[in-house]
Amino acid sequence: MAFYMPIAKHIASDLERASYVRKMFEQGEELKKRHGAENIYDFSLGNPEVEPPDSVRESFIRNAAAGLPGAHRYMSNAGFVNVREKIADSIGRRSGAPMKAGHIVMTVGAAGGINIALKTLLNPGDEVIAFAPYFKEYDFYAKNHGGSVVAVPTDGETFKPGPAALEAALSARTKAVIINSPNNPSGAVYDADCLCGIADAIRAGERKFGTDIYVISDEPYINIVYDGIEAPHVFRHFKNALIVNSYSKSLALAGERIGYTAISPEAADADAIAAGLVFCNRVLGYVNAPAFMQRVVAENIEASVDIAVYAEKRDAICRIMREAGFDFMQPQGAFYLFPKIFGDDEEAFKDRAVQHNILIVPGAGFGWPGRFRLAYCVATDTILRSRNAFIALAAEFKQ
Ligand code: PLP
Repeated sequence: MAFYMPIAKHIASDLERASYVRKMFEQGEELKKRHGAENIYDFSLGNPEVEPPDSVRESFIRNAAAGLPGAHRYMSNAGFVNVREKIADSIGRRSGAPMKAGHIVMTVGAAGGINIALKTLLNPGDEVIAFAPYFKEYDFYAKNHGGSVVAVPTDGETFKPGPAALEAALSARTKAVIINSPNNPSGAVYDADCLCGIADAIRAGERKFGTDIYVISDEPYINIVYDGIEAPHVFRHFKNALIVNSYSKSLALAGERIGYTAISPEAADADAIAAGLVFCNRVLGYVNAPAFMQRVVAENIEASVDIAVYAEKRDAICRIMREAGFDFMQPQGAFYLFPKIFGDDEEAFKDRAVQHNILIVPGAGFGWPGRFRLAYCVATDTILRSRNAFIALAAEFKQ
């Protein structure tokens, strides 16, 4: 009798691959039950502990009380025009590009934005470059739309991509290059020189293969930068560019699922791509981004969580990890630290960390074995209390 599987084979196999994160989550919950949540140092998830700014809370109240007729109906699949105009103005001011509402599609977070971008661009068999280490959900997103990710390693110390490795990875099937700066998991911010190198390599590839290659800039951490560093605007460096942004981190609204995708007006076929994005928002079943949240973010376009709070958390975790003797690059942005493991077995290292009540994600989960990720968007008190545990963990390997 043929073996019957109720779900699609490729989903069953993806579930197996993705179950690692679930297992870690379950292990964390079990530990918290056993030892008390306050005694577990859970650095595994990028789910910010900070609350949305006061101005966002005020917008919630104002919009809920306004009782506008028709406020909760369907709208254009692209989102409200006045909201998109505001976002277009803001991007136009920062990039110098002549942005209009038609270049913006409101999305269900950055995840929704990347999915509509990939569905719009990819033909079956197309390739999407991602610079390792990278947010592994990209693998699933590309696969959703018939494509696959080709990982290109960055420099092992700075975690910035170089043009030579990118040029070597480009092929006639390369349709898009995903940039994620500030980066999850490395904390690297790509400077202007780095973006110029990527742009040169892409132009060389386009000439060689006679194709257009689109940069998809995944920017949920764009305003979380430290030490006066600024992430350069991608529209200043790439003609064929889309920005995917969300308010998950900048306004601490991850659960509310709100973001946008913007296409550069200079891009080849910008109008067709804009139409594709709107259509894909519809047919992927998002239909439109949440109406209430569109109104809220429109009133908070330039607002942000307090970056000084993240800087304080970064400094605290770096101080502890340095004292414990870990080798890492000080993050320039986002809220992740990506140190080297001790020893050469990252599973064993992760298990030893669990023995000290520390939850981490091994680097293989980002296509970069030999390191581990700490999400330091937890309470500062948790970071400070984790000191002895990290020192004891490191000491085990130094003996
Ligand atoms: N891209 C990166 C690099 C992320 O780290 C995340 C979330 O952690 C996302 C996209 C998804 O963000 P959103 O919650 O806006 O969908």
